[in-house]
Amino acid sequence: LPVDNLPISERVKNFYMDSGIQKLYPPQSKAVLAGLLEGKNVLISIPTASGKTLLAELAMLQSLEQGGKCLYVVPLRALASEKFRRFSEFRELGFRSGISTGDLDERDENLGTNDIIVATSEKVDSLIRNETHWLSQISVVVLDEVHLLDSKDRGPTLEIVITKLRRLNPKIQIIALSATIQNSKEVADWMKAECVVSDWRPTKLYEGVYYDGVFEGEVIHTREKVTREIELVGKGKEAGVSLAADAIRNGGQCLVFTNSRKNAAGFAKKAGPVIQSYLTVEEQAELMDLSYEITDRSDTDAAKVLAICIRMGVAFHHAGLSSDQRELVEKSFLAGKIKLISSTPTLAAGLNLPARRVIIAAWRRYDSNEGMQMIPVMEYKQMAGRAGRPHLDPYGESVLIATKEEDIDKLKEMYIEAEPEAVESKLGAENALRTHVLSTISNGFAYTRNQLLDFFKGTFFAYQRGLLSTIALKTVIDTCLDFLIESEMCVEDKGDNSKGTESDDSVETSPFVTADKINSTKEKDDYPLYTTKIGSLVSKLYLDPLSASVILDNIEKAENEKMKLTDISLLHLICMTTDMKLLYMKSGDYLPVTEFAAENCDHIISMPPVKNSAEFEWFLGELKTAILLYRWISEVPENEISKEFDVGEGDIRQFSETASWIANAGARLLKMSGSPYAGLFSDMEIRLQYGASIQLLPLVKIRGIGRVRARKLYSAGFKSKEAFKPADFTTVAGLIGPKIAKQLYDEIGIDTSGYVVKETRKRTPRGDDFD
Ligand code: ADP
Repeated sequence: LPVDNLPISERVKNFYMDSGIQKLYPPQSKAVLAGLLEGKNVLISIPTASGKTLLAELAMLQSLEQGGKCLYVVPLRALASEKFRRFSEFRELGFRSGISTGDLDERDENLGTNDIIVATSEKVDSLIRNETHWLSQISVVVLDEVHLLDSKDRGPTLEIVITKLRRLNPKIQIIALSATIQNSKEVADWMKAECVVSDWRPTKLYEGVYYDGVFEGEVIHTREKVTREIELVGKGKEAGVSLAADAIRNGGQCLVFTNSRKNAAGFAKKAGPVIQSYLTVEEQAELMDLSYEITDRSDTDAAKVLAICIRMGVAFHHAGLSSDQRELVEKSFLAGKIKLISSTPTLAAGLNLPARRVIIAAWRRYDSNEGMQMIPVMEYKQMAGRAGRPHLDPYGESVLIATKEEDIDKLKEMYIEAEPEAVESKLGAENALRTHVLSTISNGFAYTRNQLLDFFKGTFFAYQRGLLSTIALKTVIDTCLDFLIESEMCVEDKGDNSKGTESDDSVETSPFVTADKINSTKEKDDYPLYTTKIGSLVSKLYLDPLSASVILDNIEKAENEKMKLTDISLLHLICMTTDMKLLYMKSGDYLPVTEFAAENCDHIISMPPVKNSAEFEWFLGELKTAILLYRWISEVPENEISKEFDVGEGDIRQFSETASWIANAGARLLKMSGSPYAGLFSDMEIRLQYGASIQLLPLVKIRGIGRVRARKLYSAGFKSKEAFKPADFTTVAGLIGPKIAKQLYDEIGIDTSGYVVKETRKRTPRGDDFD
């Protein structure tokens, strides 16, 4: 279909035609014919880069022209930024875009002034819980990467969000975008959507296997074949490095998927010296500048290794990197400066980073429960699908590496010819449902057990499991409710006046959604249910109710026992909550962590008996994580924490951010329950956020002053905002650099124009080789 013939406004047509898009790709035409522009629900299950985003855009713009409002739901924050940047281009058409990256416990009414809002599914769920009013005005919701319904962590929330949005506005148009999956029809039927499936791609993709110096690839549907002899190069004459060198020598870029962070970095180190030999002098100079951007911002060992790799035109990418580092690597790869990224599979699911050749260096992965496992077909397809940059590469190639001859046929059968797995709902577990049961009552989507069941019958879980799911769901919902009632987050009004009723001060009711209210009844499953003030707060804070009860119960215990709470008490309590991710115990950890437990036993609120091994083992994992956080708030340098715990900067950030969020939630819960410990949690929240001691809080709260600079200033006698006098500017500039000093003085409102201090950029010395 030519864009010119589409039933859309002239200005939207011109917007696309001016950007060089003249006609729709075949699967795009299919989606339009299926009713995409007429407000129909559509599920689009087509390969990466075949233009899913464009379809979502067309549907959104169509609705915006008619006065609608759109919500674009993504799984990852990084993806939210990518989409937001793109949609900001619609400003030309008079439409505003907004991105919601804030904390999970806020109502964000201002965001609703935008026409398109981009947010993660957790954020949307939290906006619903906080009763953000513009949500009921949403006319189109786009669900990006909807196959993640299958994910244990993300799927349940995504299902609930879809179910709630449909309840808020039954006329909402759903556009679901998915990688190719086996049961797309089933997912579409659940959403009452037309299903558009295709394996068409804009760039030819050869999928194949490398073995013993030869890559044999094939375009699946046309059976067109290619054979390439690969010259073995580099120190170890390794297959992966040689395949990468071959692509880059011929003007392409390479993505390499490995199965661990260590292997990702290891591959980059091995490939670096070979790739460097293909770089021009100009390229090397540019890369040198990039590498300084890394070492200027971080002095960890990992940052040094990354910087050295980048000088050679290669990089590694995984969740251990800081977000700055990841962004720099992605941007430089897209700009063609970095020629190769070796990464863990996380990259495949995320960003739009195509390359001419994709090398799947490892198709087995270690799983702590099941040992070495082959990666799922879905994951393979997502990796392979990254091969070939549309309009830039003549073709794409994805290469599986076989080390034994018999693996060649196996890999072809198990991956290249195979269909991706079906998407399966993970909502049925108590751990997934507990929080959603609470929020469903809190927001007024249901007021009785029967209404709860009705609500959950709208989920994909119920649709997929059919009749049987009703029994399963009922059991799990009842278990969740028992817990919520027991922990005083919910109240069930049995009409005997034994528990609170709606008029009771402790009970919150919500006007947000209106399930039919039941007043009094004798039927057990029709007894009215309410959330208490605490329950409603827990829902809004987005905390797992189990986490909330762990905090409240333990603090009550501490209060009763008149315990003196230390930093370790608080940090360990935070690590006991289910919302906190924990470090694993390694064999060398048992002695030091157990010793630490013994030294601090008076301050640990809840310590299991040593002889109960499973529980004690779990406790040690909590304590180990608490020790990491303790190092962080005690201003131990990141490099030392990295080495002690074998984690990356990105991990330290993740641990501290999550812990800080839980500390904030704890403070608010304790404040509501009138506990004197609330203040301790508020201080801890900020200390965790900045990684600093309590003394430094006045300084780290100043923008641009991190914990390292704050410590330098503090030691030199500058202990708060008030301490900075105009005459000290030169001293301060000497301590933290003139640029930041200027920013600090501006922030405080002191004019420094009379002082001139020249910026001299400190360059790190050239790194040595890796060994
Ligand atoms: P997906 O979301 O399926 O991975 P995108 O929507 O990001 O793919 O599309 C990939 C690229 O193809 C984008 O750069 C987009 O501008 C371009 N594109 C999409 N549709 C067309 C089209 N019909 N004609 C030309 N280019 C297109």
